[in-house]
Amino acid sequence: MRNMDPSQEEREYRAQIKDRKRIVVKIGSSSLHHMSTGELNLTKMERLVRELCELKNQGKDVILVSSGAIAVGKKVMNIKPTDKDIPVKQACAAVGQARLMMIYQKLFAEYNHTTAQILMTKHTIVDEINRRNAHNTFTELLKLGVIPVVNENDTVAIHEVEDTIGDNDFLSAVVANLVGADMLILLSDIDGLYTDDPRANKDAKFISLVENLADVMDMGKESTGSNIGTGGMSAKLHAATVAMNAGTDMVIANGKDVSVIHKIMEGRYYGTLFKSHKDEKFDIAGYIDEM
Ligand code: GLU
Repeated sequence: MRNMDPSQEEREYRAQIKDRKRIVVKIGSSSLHHMSTGELNLTKMERLVRELCELKNQGKDVILVSSGAIAVGKKVMNIKPTDKDIPVKQACAAVGQARLMMIYQKLFAEYNHTTAQILMTKHTIVDEINRRNAHNTFTELLKLGVIPVVNENDTVAIHEVEDTIGDNDFLSAVVANLVGADMLILLSDIDGLYTDDPRANKDAKFISLVENLADVMDMGKESTGSNIGTGGMSAKLHAATVAMNAGTDMVIANGKDVSVIHKIMEGRYYGTLFKSHKDEKFDIAGYIDEM
């Protein structure tokens, strides 16, 4: 959704986005797959990779958080998308993550960029030594000009099991916090935040700029419209809490057309922008531990 009538304040704020240096982009399973067949949408993946390579070519650091391991693995293993058995999903994640990376590596290589896989769990953040190691690895990869592709390590920790970081919306905010990103783009299956669920209430109004999370906290609905992927709007607001406190601006936008990435980065009025307010005292490990 494009805001046709941004406030002066939003205009000024959005205009600075083009100078952002370290960008985390999250894409969910529902945006990567054809709903009708469950197969990967290769055209879209190709466009996504091109968008990210273009940011990289502008001299920015880029990190992709991509879901899809379980959905791809299920497709490869001929298992129904609705199968909820946890060991089955974990096995599928092992198969699918490798397949997903193979495709990303091939696509990024076409534009002469190198990717690396980073799989994380809750312990990567909560455990101080693990956190430091992960931070060092990200920092070094970015220094080397690599584009890290991140997912939760579903094979050893999965969303339904308690011992998890949560969904990938939240994971991407955690990554943004860990690497000190100044921009996080969550590509979702809706345009951004509305005053109510726009699929159920046609009077729901689009919110273009959020400065204070408390004002919008009760607008997050638990579900998305899709059957694949896990993050609903409430998960995104949870992610916003981490991102905003970390000093990372966050935009939720519709991943239907991935060209929205460069439109956002040009400072145009797409998606809902959550304006950050860095809190030096914010303790990410403590926050996750308490969840
Ligand atoms: N990590 C899961 C996967 O790759 C997806 C989790 C999510 O979308 O939040 O399949």
